[in-house]
Amino acid sequence: MSETHVVVLGGGFAGLGAVQKLKDAPVKITIIDQNNYHTFQPLLYQLATNELSANEVGFPIREMMHRQDNAIFHQAKIMKIDLENKQVHLADMEPVSYDYLVIGLGAVVNYFGTKGAEEHAFPLYTMRDAFALKDHITKLLEKVDKNPALIDDGALTFCVVGGGPTGVETAGALSELLHAVTEEDYPNLPIKEKAEVLLFEAGDVLLKPFKPKLQKYAKKSLEKLGVTVRLDEGVSEIGPTSITLKSGEVVKTHTLIWGAGVQANPLAAALGLEQVRGGRIPVELDLSVNGRSNVFVVGDIAQITDAKTNEVLPQLGSVAQQAGRHVGENIERLVKGKETKPFEYTDKGTMAAIGRGAAVVQLPEHGTMTGHAAWLAWLGVHLTLLAGGEEKSTTMVDWGWNILTKKRGKRIVMTDEDVEAEGNQ
Ligand SMILES: Cc1cc2nc3c(=O)[nH]c(=O)nc-3n(C[C@H](O)[C@H](O)[C@H](O)COP(=O)(O)OP(=O)(O)OC[C@H]3O[C@@H](n4cnc5c(N)ncnc54)[C@H](O)[C@@H]3O)c2cc1C
Repeated sequence: MSETHVVVLGGGFAGLGAVQKLKDAPVKITIIDQNNYHTFQPLLYQLATNELSANEVGFPIREMMHRQDNAIFHQAKIMKIDLENKQVHLADMEPVSYDYLVIGLGAVVNYFGTKGAEEHAFPLYTMRDAFALKDHITKLLEKVDKNPALIDDGALTFCVVGGGPTGVETAGALSELLHAVTEEDYPNLPIKEKAEVLLFEAGDVLLKPFKPKLQKYAKKSLEKLGVTVRLDEGVSEIGPTSITLKSGEVVKTHTLIWGAGVQANPLAAALGLEQVRGGRIPVELDLSVNGRSNVFVVGDIAQITDAKTNEVLPQLGSVAQQAGRHVGENIERLVKGKETKPFEYTDKGTMAAIGRGAAVVQLPEHGTMTGHAAWLAWLGVHLTLLAGGEEKSTTMVDWGWNILTKKRGKRIVMTDEDVEAEGNQ
């Protein structure tokens, strides 16, 4: 095996795309992630609302590497990237040196300085976030069961901020969770009458990049599911049992889910490279960074311009995956003494699901789809994002079963005593 060492930072769509494309290249690959699993972010809201389990949203990276002889994985937190000395510094591990570096460290939540958000909002960007939200909802419902007076304190009011795909998908799934299985789980509580989901969007439409027809369809579909959509309403402060809107109105709620924005991974700022809106690193058309032909930045941490259209591409799983693969191809070209190629994105459509069986799809050639057909397209595109055959089939079976039966995962919650006892073992 050649000694050319490719280090890939991040086991997200971008990092894995690069690793997989280098499968047959004459290189040695080290992939590093702080988690030992790949997170399928587009399905996090389904984990939080009990539609899918952790097995269908997180995939062990070591297992994925079984299919690849030239790659090894380390679970380690990346502390610093030293571009001058071509080294990556890790927590609890010796630094790793590289010949080629792929930075695919993704994005983190952006609260835009909203007061109280760090302490009280529920973001939805990691598996931990999804578990925390799921746990909170289950524990809150148990609290209301014991003390229904909490209903008047807003305990059954669930708020979502952000009218983009994350907010829309989460609001729809949450409303379905409350009005399907929760009503059955708590027959003694007035879930049907009192539980509500409010979706706040600061702009005047939902799903801003979509066509007006799809925006209207999304709003109507959410309302049909029982979601109250409040446009032109920003949230200025978040407390434990209430939120304050920009208009000054106070809404009683114990649950505020944040789906209103991301910023580049904070490690981007320490690289000494140019950063643009949201802290993203602008890259060349071949996805390398200015002046360093052996360093590539891909996925949500990068600002990628499509060489075909000259447009900046959105932060999407499909963009990250295709760009990652392209970087893999470019590194192989360089190793073989060839020139790199500019990245051209293949747009399969922009989409958002709105509950079971409804979605909106905006196709690249200006076409649109809604309803069941759109939902099937959404399912197809998301299945192609899944890493391997095994992952695809288990997720497919579970989705299919849940949709047919309208059933949810087991709503088991660990008490604080359980967690403490486990920690003492
Ligand atoms: C809730 C939600 C819904 C979405 N829905 C869709 C959708 O329907 N369709 C779509 O196409 N896109 C969707 N997206 C966007 C899509 O998930 C992202 O664009 C995509 O995940 C970006 O891939 P990435 O590889 O750049 O980053 P990520 O997938 O975020 O991967 C980055 C990796 O880096 C690791 N990492 C970060 N910091 C460190 C560190 N210091 N040390 C070690 N490891 C580190 C992380 O653990 C992570 O595994 C959604 C995103 C979210 C949050």
